[in-house]
Amino acid sequence: MSEVDADADADASPEPGSGRADADGPAGAGTATRTAEATGAGGREDAAGDRPLRVEGLAKSFGGITAVDGASFDVERGQLTGLIGPNGAGKSTTFNLITGFIQPDAGAVYLNGSDVTGRPPYELADRGLVRTFQIARELSEMTVLENMMLAPMHQPGESLWRSVTPGPRRDVQAAEEEALERVWETLEFFEIDHLAEEYAGSLSGGQRKLLELARALLTDPDVLLLDEPFAGVNPSLEERLLEHVHELRERGYTFLLVEHDIDLIMENCARVIVMHQGQILADGVPEAVRADERVIDAYLGGDVE
Ligand code: ADP
Ligand code: MG
Repeated sequence: MSEVDADADADASPEPGSGRADADGPAGAGTATRTAEATGAGGREDAAGDRPLRVEGLAKSFGGITAVDGASFDVERGQLTGLIGPNGAGKSTTFNLITGFIQPDAGAVYLNGSDVTGRPPYELADRGLVRTFQIARELSEMTVLENMMLAPMHQPGESLWRSVTPGPRRDVQAAEEEALERVWETLEFFEIDHLAEEYAGSLSGGQRKLLELARALLTDPDVLLLDEPFAGVNPSLEERLLEHVHELRERGYTFLLVEHDIDLIMENCARVIVMHQGQILADGVPEAVRADERVIDAYLGGDVE
C-alpha cells in the first residue's frame, strides 16, 4: 500500500522541473521565484498570503487514463483542509504531483506564492512543504530514536545526525545537543518518548503514524500533506492523532488531508475539496459540500468507499 517508493524519489531528483517547461510559460520563471526575496518583490506573497498552497490546472495521464484532469484549488493557512473522493478519483496522484514525486502534464503548484511545479521533494521540504511517509522496511529495524535522528532534512541524504557532524568540535557538540533536544521535544509532544528505544517495526499502526508525523515535523514545515494518516489506526489512537493535528493547526501549521472516512473529514476540516474522475467536483465548508447534489451523486454512483 506504499504509494511512494525509492524509485519515485530517484526519478524526481535528477531532472527537477523537467515536466514544467511547457506549462510554465516564460523560461526562467522558476528560477526567478526560487528565493523568498523574489517572492516578496513580485508581490505574490501578498497574493499568497493566507493560501500557502495553490494548484492550478493540474493534469496527469497514465497511458490512456486521465488521473488528474485540470484540478485547481488552494489551501488556507492554519487550517485543516480535507481532500476526499471515491476510489480512483485522483487524490493520491494529486498529492504526488504537489510533492514532486511525479511531474504534471500541465498545470502548476505554488507554495507561498512561488512556482514550485515539479520541484524535488527535498527542495519542497526546504521550502516548508512535507508529506508524511510510511516507515520503510529498513527503518523498521531501527529504534524510534534512530528514526528521528535519521529523519530527512533539507538536502538529499541529510539528517539531523549528518547535519551536526562537520565543523569545530565545540560547535558540533552544541549542535548535537540542540538536535537531540528537538528530537526529544518532538517525541514528547506526540507522547511517544517512552518508545524511544523500541524498534519502529514493533510499534502499533497508530504509534507508527505518530512517529511518521514526528519525523515530518523535524523538517520544520509549515504545510503538511497527510495521505490517509488514520488508515489502520485504532479509534483511541486516531483520536490522539487528531488532537495532535488540531494542536499543530492552532500553532499555525497548515494541513491538507486525504482520508477515506468522510465523516471524519466533515467533522474535523474547515474546508472540504471533493475530487471525482480527476476533477474538482466541490470545494467549500463541510455543510455546503455535504448538501451538494453532485457530491451525493458521485458517492451514490456506486463508488462509495
Ligand atoms: P485515489 O487516490 O483518489 O484513489 P489515484 O490518484 O490513486 O486515486 O488514481 C487515479 C487514477 O489513476 C486511477 O484510475 C488509477 O488507477 C490511475 N493511476 C494512478 N497511478 C497510476 C500509475 N502509476 N500508473 C497508471 N495508472 C495510475
Ligand atoms: Mg489514494
